[in-house]
Amino acid sequence: MTSIPPINPAYANPPEWLRESAPHVWLPYAQMQTVPMTLPAVKTDGVRITLEDGRALIDGISSWWTAAHGYNHPHIREAVTKQLEAMPHIMLGGFAHEQAFRLAKRLADILPGDLAHTFFSESGSVSVEIAMKIAVQYWINQGVRGRRHFLSFRGGYHGDTLGTMAVCDPDEGMHTLFKGIIPEHLLTDLPKAADAEEVFDTFLGKHANEVAAVVTEPLVQGAGGMVFHPPETLQILRRACDRHNVLLIVDEIFTGFGRTGTLFACDRAGIVPDILTLSKALTGGTMALATTTARPHVFEAFLSDDPAKALMHGPTYTGNPLACAAANASLDLFEREPRLDQVAAIEAQLTRELEPARAVSGVHDVRVLGAIGVIEVDSLKDTEWLKRRFIEEGVWIRPFANVIYTTPPLVIDPGDLSQLTGAMLKILDEWAKI
Ligand code: PMP
Repeated sequence: MTSIPPINPAYANPPEWLRESAPHVWLPYAQMQTVPMTLPAVKTDGVRITLEDGRALIDGISSWWTAAHGYNHPHIREAVTKQLEAMPHIMLGGFAHEQAFRLAKRLADILPGDLAHTFFSESGSVSVEIAMKIAVQYWINQGVRGRRHFLSFRGGYHGDTLGTMAVCDPDEGMHTLFKGIIPEHLLTDLPKAADAEEVFDTFLGKHANEVAAVVTEPLVQGAGGMVFHPPETLQILRRACDRHNVLLIVDEIFTGFGRTGTLFACDRAGIVPDILTLSKALTGGTMALATTTARPHVFEAFLSDDPAKALMHGPTYTGNPLACAAANASLDLFEREPRLDQVAAIEAQLTRELEPARAVSGVHDVRVLGAIGVIEVDSLKDTEWLKRRFIEEGVWIRPFANVIYTTPPLVIDPGDLSQLTGAMLKILDEWAKI
């Protein structure tokens, strides 16, 4: 017997299609027995999400950090529509098409350093899995045995698939629940200060012969609680990987495309990883697409007369033309429109407007980087209550772990951003008094 989840008090009259179908959709990150009914959304436009009852919410999350240009940007819509009419999909095994090939070339032009060879997939987790496979096979193809492990960091998050769970923070990645199922790798703290370099270097040196690659998020550990680290951390990792001949995988799935203030977070640190992953804002929040891009020395380790040295990976929808058309159009917008200036303005406004939160009881830290504004509290008491209050205030903010944060679309105007920060402060104040 399936049961209908309870009605969300923030949404009193769900439409019939939602009431009837709710038990059939297994929602993300949700305890289905207690999850409140989710909000029926019917339309998006710019920074607004319209609900079925006509209310519009200002989006403070950008649909899990994807909608960099806001929703329904006409340029992306036109590009996808044109591609839809001509050729929605064609397999990349045997056919070339302009959108994927142009996109790979354009990524090579804008990614840091000589990152130049792109493999397409459809989700961030899969792009990290591919990066991990490439790293392991890179060593095997060169006759090096034993490099079967990864080194990753406490607080890190790289996806929900079995392979990527193994490089997430154990507490976030459910290592305990899946112990014995997912492989165990090496885990340590990110070297955040200059004096941590020696400790990290010694640790990597000790394990170098078993490590295929170090895996990290750059500048921000997103799903791990929006925790920032300085650009020097990435420089320390790059130096240690060079010294011990270990590959460096940088996961820019969250940070890529301006979120931290530069087009890529690696740009701020001036480092070039051996492999870099992208997704989320790659299509401006329109379609599912992810990339894994390697530098020439990595790519060349797969070139051989021996077919077995090829990368044996090929998702059905790899290089989907619609998604690649959306990504090309999104890149046009990054070229033509002042996104990075907008991020700088958002950063200044968030810094100014979130500052008063420091004085609220229970607030542990307030921090801003690019278009990421975070209020960290000692512990969140009731996230459902918070979500409901934000909806009542006309904004979409989704607190998790111990953070109330916003990652708005990069095109948000100052008035709408003030509504987001105003709601964050107002509800934080109410929350502190509960
Ligand atoms: N890496 C990072 C840094 C992410 O933030 C995420 C998604 N939150 C992923 C990987 C996984 O991406 P996806 O959800 O598209 O599989």
